[in-house]
Amino acid sequence: FPEITVIGAGLAGSQAALAAASLGVRARLHEMRPVRMTPAHRSGNFAELVCSNSLGGEGEMQAKGLLQAELRSVGGEILLSADASRLPAGNALAVEREEFSARVTRTVREHPLIEVVEGEIEKVPEGIAVIASGPLTSDALAADLARLTGSERLSFYDAAAPVLAFESIDLDRAWRAGRYDQSADYINCPFTKEEYLRFFGALEQARSHTPHDWEKLDFFEGCMPIEEIARRGVDTPRFGPMSPKGLDDPRTGRWPYAVAQLRQEDREGRLWSLVGFQTGLKWGDQKAVVQLIPGLENAEVVRYGVMHRNTYLNAPEVLDSTLQLRADPAKFVAGVLAGTEGYLESAATGWLAGLNAARLALGGPPLTPPAESMLGGLVRYLASANPRGFQPMNVNWALVPELPAHEPGPNGKVRKLGKREKRPVMFRRGLDAFMGWAREEAGLTVTPPPVPQPAPEAE
Ligand code: FAD
Repeated sequence: FPEITVIGAGLAGSQAALAAASLGVRARLHEMRPVRMTPAHRSGNFAELVCSNSLGGEGEMQAKGLLQAELRSVGGEILLSADASRLPAGNALAVEREEFSARVTRTVREHPLIEVVEGEIEKVPEGIAVIASGPLTSDALAADLARLTGSERLSFYDAAAPVLAFESIDLDRAWRAGRYDQSADYINCPFTKEEYLRFFGALEQARSHTPHDWEKLDFFEGCMPIEEIARRGVDTPRFGPMSPKGLDDPRTGRWPYAVAQLRQEDREGRLWSLVGFQTGLKWGDQKAVVQLIPGLENAEVVRYGVMHRNTYLNAPEVLDSTLQLRADPAKFVAGVLAGTEGYLESAATGWLAGLNAARLALGGPPLTPPAESMLGGLVRYLASANPRGFQPMNVNWALVPELPAHEPGPNGKVRKLGKREKRPVMFRRGLDAFMGWAREEAGLTVTPPPVPQPAPEAE
């Protein structure tokens, strides 16, 4: 049998080994637990869920729902194990965590083509390999990966800023401009003094709800959380990331009292992040604080800010959409290490990395799923996002192409499609494209999954 190596039996690595083995490729899977534990895992079981027990919202209104359906259609074992261990949780795919992880462990260990090897891997191995050692990759391996990819450092406390959907920004209030005469690369949200003080009050209030353990950490001055900046005084944000200097508001011709700036995150300009707003605030509080920014009253937060230790590659600099390292195309990367966030995204990229590593071992070319599919949208984003300040990404609808904005209604008049109408269409389009690709290009057996019922949006 041809052979590959997989490092890490987490969400991504377990699925990668199983995907490769299902193509008749032998996988040697290295896992350091329980010999060496991470700060977050508690057991030696595979695919352990370190925090929540949910693999995301289900149904055709949900971006995660589409990714789940794609994985189900190709028999992704992580999804099948989740389905078999599910707990009632409204519109979310929640699981009994121990049962889920025990099932995955059993499926991996019982597979005749997978050999599990206990112990830490300190260096990127020779030959075809999937590296899926996760956000808590051991230090030695992180250092070797940094060497291989030419990155300065991989491991740090992640202080990410919220990312918003472009279509939810009110451009009657916010305007595009750069400071002074610089090019108009930013969207600027202007505050009056009253608006700023209201925003600052809400930020202070939200900070008091935040767990404090990360406050002991040393932050780089450049990635200080906004609530930490605010702790230094009411004017500190206004003289820091919220400075209005050089930004003439076209409606007044003057600099506003303060400004929140947004920077483009993706090539198409559908995702924008708040500059200097890295934060560890609770998600509900984050949304409330963000929506107090003028122009962002209806902002849709597609990725919340987070504060936790994270090890990941700057994917757009080092990865292709096939999940191959540009510096060494025999090495594939999956999971959080590849710049995704979330259990489901980790499992999905693990599946693709396992498939592609196996294809390479069998002499075929690695593949990228279609752009309309959620997995295709995610890996294309990883390979092409703005590398500046790149942060791991959850799936969301802005990763796949928009539907045409208008479509003739029953009376022949052109009308705009609302979110509720668009999403089921995007879901069906993505799933069909994915299944067609999996069958025809990847040569896999595809089973159409049950079509999930429309579900109210669960953020
Ligand atoms: P993991 O599941 O962590 O798997 C990596 C595996 O590699 C581990 O088993 C590890 O022991 C092993 N390993 C590491 N280094 C080596 C080595 N050198 N040699 C051999 N083995 C090695 N996502 C969510 O969707 N919901 C959440 O609630 C959530 N909470 C999180 C909380 C924390 C504290 C962290 C850090 C992350 C959280 N995430 C959450 C993000 C992410 O989805 C999970 O971390 C997910 O488990 C990542 O999957 P993975 O396969 O990339 O890594």
